[in-house]
Amino acid sequence: MEDQNPLLGLIGQLSKLPGVGPKSAQRLSFFFLSLSQKEVANFASVLTDTRTRIRYCTSCFNISFQERCYICQNPKRHTQTLCVVAEPRDIFAIERTQEYKGRYHVLGGLISPIDGIHPEALRIAELLDRLKQEGVEEVIIALNSTIEGDATMHYLTHLLKDIPMKKSKLAYGLPVGADMDYTDELTLRKALLGRTDV
Ligand SMILES: [Zn+2]
Repeated sequence: MEDQNPLLGLIGQLSKLPGVGPKSAQRLSFFFLSLSQKEVANFASVLTDTRTRIRYCTSCFNISFQERCYICQNPKRHTQTLCVVAEPRDIFAIERTQEYKGRYHVLGGLISPIDGIHPEALRIAELLDRLKQEGVEEVIIALNSTIEGDATMHYLTHLLKDIPMKKSKLAYGLPVGADMDYTDELTLRKALLGRTDV
């Protein structure tokens, strides 16, 4: 069999990365070739190791290597404030602001009837359990400003309305349709500090 382009396999894999087109994939392939075999082996083993060991925190459902994530394990984090987010990556976005000292609860998605995602598919029962058991005084609902985020916000505020605690949401200022992950730290910090009651 004739030789084919020896980089086809690598380019094919790298093209699967978000935002990476064929041209960038080719550039990245040559970058990997410029590394030593040891460096490439390191890269590959961190990738495999992370993917293999990662699981969900049994308390907040953040990603974690251990049963409970580093935030839940940190005794300095306040237990009286609970911030509800859709996905673990939202935790990373809020943590970048260095403004929030409480704990989190990851819903595991947003309500979206069109996509068949109903409230039962989210970790809402677990949220209610935690609100009862952990002495939470304020719940901050921090969801993306999208149709699904709004639908989930309405569902939660209705569900929590008779529970006697402070309930707030991120202040407006987050652009409509904005993904928290792509929102800059300053905007997100302002949205957090200026949070309003719901
Ligand atoms: Zn946790």
